[in-house]
Amino acid sequence: MFLGPTEILLCLAPFMMVIFSIGVGLAAQNMMLARHERERGQKKCPSCKGLLNPEAYVCRFCRKELYEYRRA
Ligand SMILES: [Zn+2]
Repeated sequence: MFLGPTEILLCLAPFMMVIFSIGVGLAAQNMMLARHERERGQKKCPSCKGLLNPEAYVCRFCRKELYEYRRA
């Protein structure tokens, strides 16, 4: 049985769709994980909403002290 390019494409299409959806799913998961890591690695100033180093105890943007925020 001879398979033309169209038949081969039709046979491969489901596999390609599965691979494609897995790739998209993994990419989305990676993006979510990366964003989660970024958000976990930084904290937000309660005053000016600037992203800060989690070790910081004074906001580098507005100089607000963050002791209370750190405890919470
Ligand atoms: Zn601030």
